[in-house]
Amino acid sequence: MAITKKQSAELATQVFEYAPAPEAIDHVKIASRYGLFIDGRMVDAHSKKRFPTINPATEKTLSEVAEADEVDVDRAVKAASKAFESWSHLSASRRARYLFRISRLIQERSRELAVVETMDGGKPIKESRDVDIPLSAAHFFYYAGWADKLEWAFPNRKPRPLGVAGQVIPWNFPLLMLAWKIAPALAAGNTVVLKPAETTPLSAMVFAEICMQADLPPGVVNIVTGAGKTGSLVVSHPAVKKVAFTGSTEVGKLIQRSIAGSGKKLTLELGGKAANIVFEDAPLDQAVEGIVNGIYFNQGHVCCAGSRLLVQESIAEPLLEKLKRRLSTLRLGDPLDKNTDIGAINSRAQLEKIQGLVESGVEEGAELYQPPCVLPERGFWFPPSLFTNVSQSYRIAREEIFGPVLSVLTFRTPNEAVEKANNTPYGLSAGVWTDKGSRILWMAERMRAGVVWANTFNRFDPTSPFGGYKESGYGREGGVHGLLPYVELH
Ligand code: NAP
Ligand code: MG
Repeated sequence: MAITKKQSAELATQVFEYAPAPEAIDHVKIASRYGLFIDGRMVDAHSKKRFPTINPATEKTLSEVAEADEVDVDRAVKAASKAFESWSHLSASRRARYLFRISRLIQERSRELAVVETMDGGKPIKESRDVDIPLSAAHFFYYAGWADKLEWAFPNRKPRPLGVAGQVIPWNFPLLMLAWKIAPALAAGNTVVLKPAETTPLSAMVFAEICMQADLPPGVVNIVTGAGKTGSLVVSHPAVKKVAFTGSTEVGKLIQRSIAGSGKKLTLELGGKAANIVFEDAPLDQAVEGIVNGIYFNQGHVCCAGSRLLVQESIAEPLLEKLKRRLSTLRLGDPLDKNTDIGAINSRAQLEKIQGLVESGVEEGAELYQPPCVLPERGFWFPPSLFTNVSQSYRIAREEIFGPVLSVLTFRTPNEAVEKANNTPYGLSAGVWTDKGSRILWMAERMRAGVVWANTFNRFDPTSPFGGYKESGYGREGGVHGLLPYVELH
């Protein structure tokens, strides 16, 4: 039955109620304590120290993990150095076989991994289930394929592995960042010592079990948990030949300084303040979905989040109206509920950082919009937010908020859009929404951003390189480019 225009408009404003649809958690066993994964087994930490990891949606402790000290990190690096002797000489097809096995095991244990990721980090289960875990498996599959084809990756050159890679990762995509780091390193014949983030170590502990299940030779992968101090011990260990870091620009700079002159190879994947640019000829409803995905996906804890919306002035009003309406339909709450769009903020510290920056936006004169939204009593939450009346000089337009907060700016001409998009110390990603292919290419050529998405946002694929310009870091992860940081070419 056809409906009238008026009925259709009414339907579009209607907010639907959803019955709770919690993911089952009874199939998941989180141990009350975890040790360190060194030389193929879980061992007690020399430090004898532990720290709790909590569920940010409930503030309840999930488990206690070990805090690795200097002796622990040294043991892990020694195990990795020893394993390197045989792993680097193993036939490439055998190395590939282990990587395939790991990816299959990630798939087999995907439900468990998704629940662990959601409980430990606060992200909605539909994201860990449909994005983080499948992409992690895909990364291992992809690099398994390269292990015995390195000669084709670097024609006429002879690639050699570097040795032990020291890898430090953040809390926003714990397993996925682990996969981005470990898969290319192992495919190229290196061994690794990895430090997960303090607030999200649990999926790395499940991954340690997966390494054992896969019969990976001892010492090829070592996982040491701890805080920033443990990370600095990993990167500064003299036997580490390659450092791969994903995290804040501030810590990236510290690391760069601390290893200067050591001869270690370094890749840095740091922060961002991406422009998501909507031209007047863009399909607006599609753009609204892309804007929402760009900034509210994973509570905005995304280095490449489209945190600055640049809208062509002529369509600013209708676009913002649609966007605000869409915001009011986002469901915030229990991350384990399959209907949840916005989960918990990863930690109290991150929540305070977001609150502080949002306050600065209001003080500086921007106009804050938040849809009516009930926040749960326990846990760390922040409603989806957007700022209009934003000037480029405001902190909310310059600094990375790393939360569900969008700053809206306008432009009149494509040149102005490029200038505003590039007016940032970062350069990780950007989005362009337009009907014109030629304009997409014109914009992509002029923007200093490692990734430019066209009529989409936050799309990832293991075959595609990812990385930044300027203060977003250097080096690429993913694709054939992602192998280069892990080899020496002769
Ligand atoms: P962070 O404080 O830089 O931490 C990242 C990792 O480094 C954590 O494991 C952290 O340990 C460790 N760490 C802290 N201080 C260290 C030191 N002095 N030496 C060595 N390691 C150290 O960043 P975060 O707050 O966890 O993550 C958010 C930031 O990461 C954002 O700025 C975001 O843009 C960036 N990020 C970038 C990408 C990318 O691909 N470009 C991806 C994800 C996130 P603790 O856990 O104990 O702090
Ligand atoms: Mg946690």
